[in-house]
Amino acid sequence: GNVIGVFTSGGDAQGMNAAVRAIVRVGIFLGCKVYYIKEGYQGMVDGGDNIQLATWESTSSTIHMGGTLIGSARCLDFRERPGRLKAAKNLVELGITNLIAIGGDGSLTGANLFRQEWPGLLRELVDTNQITMDRLTTCSHLNIVGLVGSIDNDFCGTDMTIGVDSALHRIIESVDEIMTTAVSHKRAFVLEIMGRMCGYLPLVAGISSEATMVFIPEDPPEGDWRQGLCDHIKESSKTDARRTHIVLVAEGAIDRFGNIIKCSDVQKVLTERMNMDVRVTVLGHVQRGGRASAFDRIIGTRMGTEAVLALMDAGPETPACVIVLHGIDIVRTPLMKAVETTKLVGQKMSELNFDEVVNLRGRF
Ligand code: ATP
Repeated sequence: GNVIGVFTSGGDAQGMNAAVRAIVRVGIFLGCKVYYIKEGYQGMVDGGDNIQLATWESTSSTIHMGGTLIGSARCLDFRERPGRLKAAKNLVELGITNLIAIGGDGSLTGANLFRQEWPGLLRELVDTNQITMDRLTTCSHLNIVGLVGSIDNDFCGTDMTIGVDSALHRIIESVDEIMTTAVSHKRAFVLEIMGRMCGYLPLVAGISSEATMVFIPEDPPEGDWRQGLCDHIKESSKTDARRTHIVLVAEGAIDRFGNIIKCSDVQKVLTERMNMDVRVTVLGHVQRGGRASAFDRIIGTRMGTEAVLALMDAGPETPACVIVLHGIDIVRTPLMKAVETTKLVGQKMSELNFDEVVNLRGRF
């Protein structure tokens, strides 16, 4: 049977455990051996106890848990060829020639590079007597499938990434909680929401929580945002006798000149120009925390299942794919196109308008 290695890399996201569970169980069901590669690429490079055979039972009672139980890490060693050579040796020794990478665009870029280098890495391992010629023959191709675990929803080619829905739940719960105290004291609140390159979380949280204003990186306010915010509050106060205002600010929110809009900037405007009592709350890692929502458990499970099936279908010439959500369908899309488009959006964010960003982030 095939031998599969699964790892999580980059920032953790709720629903990663559901994906790992599905990969292990579908893999075993189909007669494969599945290995956990712990601590992301670091575990792959270091080998030893970091690479462990997964059992069916080892995934029991994990589907609901947030974070990633097999650990995640940023790994400098894997960025250099000598690190990838060590990783290749560790995989080949266990006969692992199928990898499922669960992470963001960086992790998937690394996986694709590894795949391209694989024949050269194995040749070097034979030439330096680290593996036998037999091993090279049985492990000549590395198949890669990617899953996107990221609370930001910043990955191009998928409608949703694993973890976004749970993060939204955390944000909305926090806003609801803040509302009760805000209303009591007629205070305004400015909340910083995660999303350096992507305003999906603050935007959708804003819609679901009646926020007064949302600032996101993709759509810098036209004109003077300070004046715009004050005008909007004055105008809306005429028709809506609100006791509070909530403003959501993405970490990467910018003004029309490309300068970051900070929560403290918004607080200053509301305090000085509107004479409001304003508090700032940075939600921070609360957004990544807690249980996975039903939606993330389900897309994690469906994407994990599809990833194993994609590996079973893959041959030496099959391009690497990433498993994505299109509407209600789980489908395969070319990994490199998705990664490159994601990078492009990041680099060109300030030159693109909102519709262009949305189009590029769409399906292909
Ligand atoms: P997040 O969206 O949470 O930041 P990510 O997967 O984009 O997730 P990165 O820190 O960019 O997070 O990448 C995770 C790891 O993947 C890195 O620490 C590194 O080991 C590996 N990696 C990233 N880019 C490359 C690359 N170009 N070549 C080799 N390895 C890479």
